[in-house]
Amino acid sequence: TPVNELTLQQAQDEIKPLRAKLTKWGKEYYEQDNPTVEDYVYDRAYQRLVQLEEQFPQLVSADSPTQRVGGATENQLTKVRHEIPMLSMGDVFSIEELMDFNQRQQENRDVEVEPEYNLELKIDGLSLSLVYENGKLVQGSTRGNGTIGEDVTANIRTIKSVPAELPEPLSIEVRGECYMPKAAFAKLNAKREAEGLPVFANPRNAAAGSLRQLDPKVTAQRELDTFMYYVPEYQKLGVKTQAEALDRMRELGFNVNPNNRVVHNREEIEKYIEEYTAQRDKLTYGIDGIVEKVNDLDTEVALGNTVKVPRWEIAYKFPPEEQATIVRDIVWTV
Ligand code: NAD
Repeated sequence: TPVNELTLQQAQDEIKPLRAKLTKWGKEYYEQDNPTVEDYVYDRAYQRLVQLEEQFPQLVSADSPTQRVGGATENQLTKVRHEIPMLSMGDVFSIEELMDFNQRQQENRDVEVEPEYNLELKIDGLSLSLVYENGKLVQGSTRGNGTIGEDVTANIRTIKSVPAELPEPLSIEVRGECYMPKAAFAKLNAKREAEGLPVFANPRNAAAGSLRQLDPKVTAQRELDTFMYYVPEYQKLGVKTQAEALDRMRELGFNVNPNNRVVHNREEIEKYIEEYTAQRDKLTYGIDGIVEKVNDLDTEVALGNTVKVPRWEIAYKFPPEEQATIVRDIVWTV
C-alpha cells in the first residue's frame, strides 16, 4: 500500500516489525559480519521505513534505524571516541533520484551550492580512520556506531598500503575504506572451504571480519587493502576542493583510488555512472555504487550533516547483481 493511503494506526503497525527486522539484520551485518539477507532486501525494507517516517514524522523515534549509524560496539575490542563523528551516507537508486537530490541541494536557501561535484567509486568495504601525530601513525579505528569505534591499530599496521610515517610531520586524521581485493577474497574462501570452515558471504564482510580481529597475525594473512578519501580537517592540507584533497593524500603516500572525476551536469554524471556500471566486474575490488560529493570543501562544511548522513554527499547504488551471492554458514569474527 502506498504510504499516503495509510492511516496513522496502520503506519504504526507496519513500522514496529519493520524496525525490529532492520535492527536484527543490522546486528548480523555490522556486529557478526554475517548477513542473512542480500543488501537489496535490506535497502528495500529501509527505504519503506524512510517513506513511512516521512509521511508520519510523529512516528520517528531516536532509536529508529533511520536515525542511527549502524555499527558494532559490543565486543572485546578496545573502544575509541570519534570527536568528529563518522557518519553513514544517504543513497539513491536511479539517476532521477540523484537529480532530485541535487535540485534540493541547489534550492537550499542558507548555502549557495555551485553545481560542481567530485564523483568517486563507492568501495565495498568498511570505513577506516587513521590518526597521525607529527607524521606518525598512532591510531587506526573502525566507524563503530559513528561516535564509538573499535581500536584496530595493531591490525592496521599489518596493511601494506597504510603508511606508518608521512613525508611531512602532519597531525591529521585521514579516513577511507578498508577492503579485501576480489582475488584475496576468492583465495581466502577457497582455503576456508578446504579446511571445512564457514566461508564469508562477500568481500565486504570478509574485510570487516579480518580487520576486527583480536590477533593482528590473523589480519596480516588476509591481504587487506585501503583507499583513503577524506580528511575532515582539510584546512591542514591547504586544499580547497575534494579533488585536490585526494591529490594531496596521494602525495602523502596514501592509496587513493585513481577513478575520481570532477563533473558539472547530468550528462557528465550519467556518463560516469554508465562507464563504471560497465567496468565494475573488471575492477580488482568490489564497488557497490558511486559517490557524488560537492567539490568545494567550505561548501561541504556549510551544508553540514543530519544526525546520520552528510548533506554534501550521496551514494548512487548499482542495481542488485543478477547472480545473487548465496549467503551461507555463520562466520563469527571475534
Ligand atoms: P554504506 O556503507 O552504504 O555507505 C556509507 C559508507 O560508504 C561510508 O561509511 C564509507 O565507508 C563508504 N564509502 C565507500 N566509498 C566511499 C567514498 N568514495 N567516499 C565516501 N564514502 C565511501 O552505508 P552504511 O550505513 O554503512 O550501511 C548501509 C549499507 O549496508 C547498505 O548497502 C545496506 O544494504 C548494507 N546493510 C546490509 C545488511 C544486510 O543484512 N544485508 C544489513 C545492514 C546494512
